[in-house]
Amino acid sequence: MKIVRINTTDGTVTEQALPPERAHYGGRLLTSTIVAEEVPPLAHPLGPRSKVILANGMFAGHANVPCSGRMSVGCKSPMTGTIKEANAGGDAGCYLGRYGIRGLVLEGLPPDAEWRLIHVSDDGIKLLSASQYAGLNNYDLVEAVRRDMGEKVSIICIGTAGEQRLSAASVAVTSADGPPSRHAGRGGTGAAMGAKGIKAIVVDMKSGQGGPIADEEELRRLCTEFARELHESKQVLRDYGTANLVNPISELGALATRNFSAGTFEGAEKISGEAMRETIDDRGGAHGRACMPGCPIRSANRYVCADGTVVDDVEFESLTLLGANCGIDDLDAVAKLERMCDDFGLDTIDTGGAIGVAMEAGLLEFGDGQKAIELLAEVSKGSAIGKIIGSGAALAAQVLGVRRVPAVKSQGLSAYDPRGLKGMGVTYATTPMGADHTAGAPIPNRPGIGELNLDPMDKQDKDLLSYDLQVMTGALDALGVCMFTGPQVSTVEWWARIMSAATGERWTFRRLLQVAHDMIRTEIDFNRRAGFSEQHDRLPEHFELEPLPPKGPVFDIGDAALDGVTGSLTVDDRVPDDQ
Ligand code: SF4
Repeated sequence: MKIVRINTTDGTVTEQALPPERAHYGGRLLTSTIVAEEVPPLAHPLGPRSKVILANGMFAGHANVPCSGRMSVGCKSPMTGTIKEANAGGDAGCYLGRYGIRGLVLEGLPPDAEWRLIHVSDDGIKLLSASQYAGLNNYDLVEAVRRDMGEKVSIICIGTAGEQRLSAASVAVTSADGPPSRHAGRGGTGAAMGAKGIKAIVVDMKSGQGGPIADEEELRRLCTEFARELHESKQVLRDYGTANLVNPISELGALATRNFSAGTFEGAEKISGEAMRETIDDRGGAHGRACMPGCPIRSANRYVCADGTVVDDVEFESLTLLGANCGIDDLDAVAKLERMCDDFGLDTIDTGGAIGVAMEAGLLEFGDGQKAIELLAEVSKGSAIGKIIGSGAALAAQVLGVRRVPAVKSQGLSAYDPRGLKGMGVTYATTPMGADHTAGAPIPNRPGIGELNLDPMDKQDKDLLSYDLQVMTGALDALGVCMFTGPQVSTVEWWARIMSAATGERWTFRRLLQVAHDMIRTEIDFNRRAGFSEQHDRLPEHFELEPLPPKGPVFDIGDAALDGVTGSLTVDDRVPDDQ
């Protein structure tokens, strides 16, 4: 497998084989390793010394390995200034794997203001002019590219938010059935790609397989069994998607509501997974879609608004940040906001956070879906208020004079209030990525390693629970596989068996966790060199000072416990035996 370096200054394309000792490097492990080794920690995230790395995982291209085609996008974050990795589903990771590509590295800065695209095909990897696509948002862009280059392409691209280098801009990846609805959303990856002058990466679809496999027969046997288990155990995701969480998290009292001022949303039922499924069934949308080849879980959906607007992949985080967090209980309005974010190429989490902050500042009323749509439309127009909203919750709060800033390291909190779900608060505070639930999400009833107190509002053991989930999720991120296969002991054990069959080496649960631990420590080290200390691994003070209605918890996990997660805790502490 190879890494392809594209120098955007002089247009040269260089291929480099992955060294044997790094044959297993993929996903977040590859992006974070390259950023840590090659990007000066004090480099400007949009400058010539920064790099953007797009990496798939070990099994990309092997559609029989379940959920294994995720694309990681890594860089120094334009939003946080820390190291960053965000990953997306879609089918580009799979097809890049079939060209023998594990990673694309975008380097330098373009010599002019012209937009370019990278075309990956059997004829090689070429840098072409994309000036005809300048100013297009993602849906029009993929339609135009397919018109010009053929229908059988997978596309990684940025919309007008990335063109403006806004710090909440995402990188979109086309879903297996076409739309640009899968996003590496967090931390401004789209701005970093925009700074390299790359509007799109177009990958011709290709049959065949990904990288070499040591024991094909054993891999097939294991994956058949694992896929069957995933299909049977994840029925709720197929039926309701991640939106199944809206009602239970609201009932728990931990749903981000009106700029994180309450934990229960009175309109939760109207934007819940159950309401969405009913509407989808009534209006002829779809549920149970797969975002990439070879997914047996199929958590994706397609929602249709009353006026006919089609919205792909309406998920829990978007429903909460663009819905409850803005006090909006109109499902069509929330879905349209999500569609606009996908189209402009914006992180729905930080955008919902920014709109919530604008509501708290009095620019519009909580609950006003129509005004929220008008405000969001400003992003694509490039107006001053649009640039503020497109730069995320922390910047919006600073500009608009809002005291309650729902962010850590300048990245907006996800859909869970950390007072009602304290393990999540530990993850927000301590992950090197800024507030990010995907770094290790202790949602209710998700166990860690061994017996732990799982009461979400009890502070006991939440440092251990967060650490466990950060290393288990990190293992999945390093392999480039979907976290909905489950950051849990039994799943990571499955991946260890699959890794053993693929590589011919002995992989264990513990070995995978050690890889993830070392990867996270590398990321923390980059952040320390970039000027971030333990003092940045904290939540904003209002989460400690202001009880969360209606149940009244505060975030009360002390600094020593937080520092243990980023410092002293090791895999040996959690997994003494090599299982
Ligand atoms: S479970 Fe959902 S996000 Fe994961 S690969 Fe399948 S469709 Fe994509």
